[in-house]
Amino acid sequence: MTTRKRTDAVPKVPDEFHVFGFARDLLAWYDEQKRDLPWRINRDPYRVWVSEIMLQQTRVETVKPYFENFMRKFPTVEALADAPEEEVLKAWEGLGYYSRARNLQAAAREVKETYGGVVPDTPEEISKLKGIGPYTAGAILSIAYEKPEPAVDGNVMRVFSRLLLMHDDIAKPATRIKMEQLIRQVIPQGRAGDFNQALMELGALVCLPRNPQCLTCPVFDYCLARREGVQEELPVKGKAKPPRPVSYLVAVIKREDAYLITKRPEQGLLAGMWEFPMVETEQVEWAEDILPDALQQRYGLDVSVEQPLLQIRHTFSHLQWHLHVHLCAYRGGSGQLPATARFVSGNQLADYAFSVAHGKIIQYLSQAAFTL
Ligand code: SF4
Repeated sequence: MTTRKRTDAVPKVPDEFHVFGFARDLLAWYDEQKRDLPWRINRDPYRVWVSEIMLQQTRVETVKPYFENFMRKFPTVEALADAPEEEVLKAWEGLGYYSRARNLQAAAREVKETYGGVVPDTPEEISKLKGIGPYTAGAILSIAYEKPEPAVDGNVMRVFSRLLLMHDDIAKPATRIKMEQLIRQVIPQGRAGDFNQALMELGALVCLPRNPQCLTCPVFDYCLARREGVQEELPVKGKAKPPRPVSYLVAVIKREDAYLITKRPEQGLLAGMWEFPMVETEQVEWAEDILPDALQQRYGLDVSVEQPLLQIRHTFSHLQWHLHVHLCAYRGGSGQLPATARFVSGNQLADYAFSVAHGKIIQYLSQAAFTL
């Protein structure tokens, strides 16, 4: 029988790291230097929540206009809960990772029904809402409710790996838990929200992934990695698997001034988004045979491939799409289209939510000789 090592002891912040001075200097810098961002004008839990969901995997500058538009359209939990899903996806169009929008709306409905429209303020309740993981829960609880909860994302792990000279692999889930335990020991009383935001701000502006700006860093004196001169070697990050390439033929089928679009399934990648019909295949050079057969089987449509239009590469976290887009002519059709497919005139396309990759096809069509 193998003997298991005990791993459940709470790690301690090293004695040589001066917790009090660090928090004081970090907050003083934040008070002076923090960026003016639209979600920082107040601490409304709903606004904090929406901003944190939008900021996942997405740059601040990209999020700003989306956030302001989203708040104009859905200013309260109730407004978001009651909105048609299509409108929510449309407001999210171009931000990517659309399951975030669907989960946000599902959670808003839960908040409306179960909590009377008030975002819950306990870790237990808030963590049960769809799309709210440990980081987002910590961010909302600390920023909106001043609860001493850590909010640990990739940026914060990078900063803390350097500050505390940690060589743990930040790609491992256990490291995030360890970081949370350590950060709990550093959060100053009464300023949890500012402290978490200050750490994020430090990661975004100073303690950059490459070339950390140590000479202008407000916590230079406390940083253990900098003291050893190894800040550029941290954090340790195991290699993630590269995204798997998948090839598709895409059919832009034109019937008079209308194009065929289809809705993706309600679950999975880009759930509920609209797109031009796609056929997965490795044999993209056989478009003239493969597309008419597949479109006949799927929609009962008789089409011919007219010409290749463009190629698009789009990378998700786990997949890389290679889209080979072809213009097809409509020659006839038998029977009814399924409910998830329809012909839509060129100027109505803007009413539907498309993924970024298919948005590029629309952009191409509008700029090319094909009039929308
Ligand atoms: Fe990051 Fe350098 Fe500041 Fe340390 S001193 S926290 S490595 S910027």
